[in-house]
Amino acid sequence: MVPCILPWDIAEATFKCGAFRRAFFEDVDSCHRQCARYWIEATKCEWGLLHPLSSQSAEDWQFQIPVFWHLDDVQMAETSGAPVAHTVVSWSSSLTTGSTGLTKHVFLTFPRDDTVPRKTMAALAEVIAWVMTAMQTGRRPAADPAGIPMQSPAEEFAPPWCFSMSGLKHDLEARVKAHVDCKTYNHNYVCMLCSAHKHMQCLYMGDLRENAYFAKTIIGDTDHVRLYNVSPWLKVPGFAYSRALYDQMHLLYHNGFISDFVSSCLIDLLHHEQVLGADLDDALDEMTSKFLKWRSEQRRYPNDSRHDFARLTRLRIKWKGDHAFPELTMCYKCGTVRLFMYFLNDFLTEHVPGGTRYQQVRALCAWSFSKYMEVLRNGRAVLSPDEQAEAVKHGQTFLNQYVVLHQHCKLLRRKLWKIRPKAHYEWHVIDGLRSSAMNPRYGECWLEESLLGQVCKTFSRCHGATRMAAGLHRHIRFLIDIWYREESQAECWLAN
Ligand SMILES: [Zn+2]
Repeated sequence: MVPCILPWDIAEATFKCGAFRRAFFEDVDSCHRQCARYWIEATKCEWGLLHPLSSQSAEDWQFQIPVFWHLDDVQMAETSGAPVAHTVVSWSSSLTTGSTGLTKHVFLTFPRDDTVPRKTMAALAEVIAWVMTAMQTGRRPAADPAGIPMQSPAEEFAPPWCFSMSGLKHDLEARVKAHVDCKTYNHNYVCMLCSAHKHMQCLYMGDLRENAYFAKTIIGDTDHVRLYNVSPWLKVPGFAYSRALYDQMHLLYHNGFISDFVSSCLIDLLHHEQVLGADLDDALDEMTSKFLKWRSEQRRYPNDSRHDFARLTRLRIKWKGDHAFPELTMCYKCGTVRLFMYFLNDFLTEHVPGGTRYQQVRALCAWSFSKYMEVLRNGRAVLSPDEQAEAVKHGQTFLNQYVVLHQHCKLLRRKLWKIRPKAHYEWHVIDGLRSSAMNPRYGECWLEESLLGQVCKTFSRCHGATRMAAGLHRHIRFLIDIWYREESQAECWLAN
């Protein structure tokens, strides 16, 4: 038996202390409308039509809160010996990206199993299927997965609210493990959603145009089950493979697409065009100073300036000459890479004249990405039709221009603007926006990463032998503190 914090207990506790709406909604004044809109949008897609909720009336949808589950591994310190990897499973509402303690909920943790990962994942999916079956009715289950009667069976935990499965969040490594994928970034066929290939010209994964050839090979959820049917998560009511979400944080900033953009752009500007002088080392140093100054003055973008910025050097952007792609090393956190991209957009607009066609394409590429992110940042869980059209337009422009830059440098025998499988997966994220207005920002793992950091801190203090239970106890104490504060606040509001 693995100890866990049951989701209906969390829902009930937040409900009783008056923090329910803040825990599950970003906009607490239009909760019912947000839920209804979410499921209306879902039923425009195949997974929504396959969802158990599609048989309910639209009236009932306004009480169904969509839920994301999240899987990832953390290294927990051991008192003696090397750190041990633990898998952390958490859940949250799909309608909020709010603060960690109140909105992201730990379900359980267990030591990562590398010997029988399939069996472990199948057992986990079975438990979550049991949880979601009960959550969807808004009532506690009568018996546990082993058939043993539960306390307070069939009792409503937060009437009239219920919770339904919407998707699964993970990074690429956890994704492969969770769904037993046979086509991954390590294979020539890189994608489970289509037949994109690393080298084959006609199905080349780096063809990022809207009408790329591989786009004709995309398979839907029903065909996916017929063809593969291996993901244990298919047992969870409401889950379809297209709801194994791509996390843009990892795709773009964690050794990803935008990390490649930033490093290539730096080499392009400072080495090939020498906009800050002939010496690359001095130019990198000056670029660092310009970025730090810009960061302290700008107010437009999310800015986590707690982290020191490691000054740019040849080593940190892995610059070895025109025969190898430059890459940002992992000393740059995702938030920093994102901010640096916005800085480059401003820098290109203000300091580089853009005289040549190539320079114009580069500036347009950076600008379109910033606009794409701006639309997602300002949008709610379901984008308006205008926002959806804007996001697709800017996202696709960014992809198109990136490919132009890559091909141009290829002709010059310069290895810049790398195309890796993550670029292909980002194509799917932008392509998904054509048929669905669900905001991909809500599928990103920024706050889950914060939760993992906090879990790691709490659980690492416990003894390895009793960690799974003792860590959860400590975590519950932390939650009680948050709920107590929320209750005091709620009482104050009522008193006024
Ligand atoms: Zn694909």
